[in-house]
Amino acid sequence: MVTDPNARVFTPWPHEPTDACTLVHCHTHNVDEPEYDAYRVCGECSHVFPTAAALLADQAALVKRLNANPIADPRSPDAPPVLMEAATDPDTIWSCPHCAHDF
Ligand SMILES: [Zn+2]
Ligand SMILES: [Zn+2]
Ligand SMILES: [Zn+2]
Repeated sequence: MVTDPNARVFTPWPHEPTDACTLVHCHTHNVDEPEYDAYRVCGECSHVFPTAAALLADQAALVKRLNANPIADPRSPDAPPVLMEAATDPDTIWSCPHCAHDF
C-alpha cells in the first residue's frame, strides 16, 4: 500500500487513460510516460521525448514514412514529388512527430 501522496504509479503497458494518470498518459502509445528530465513533452498527446536525440529519431522515422509514399503536388502532378528531409537540429522541430501538434 502506497501512502506517500507524491508517489505516483506509472503503468508501462498500453491502457486507457484514467484520472490518476492523465498528466503522464501518452495518447500516442497509451502508456504512462513520466517526465522526469524530459527534453520535450508534447502538449497534445503527452508523448515524452526524453532527449533531443529521441526527438530527432522520431522525426526522422516520420520523414522516412512520409517519403515512402510521397504526395504529388496537385498543381503539378507530373513533377517528381518533393521529399522531406529529416531535421538535424532538434530546435528546428516545431511539431510533434506523433500527433503533428505544434510544441
Ligand atoms: Zn495512463
Ligand atoms: Zn504529440
Ligand atoms: Zn509516447
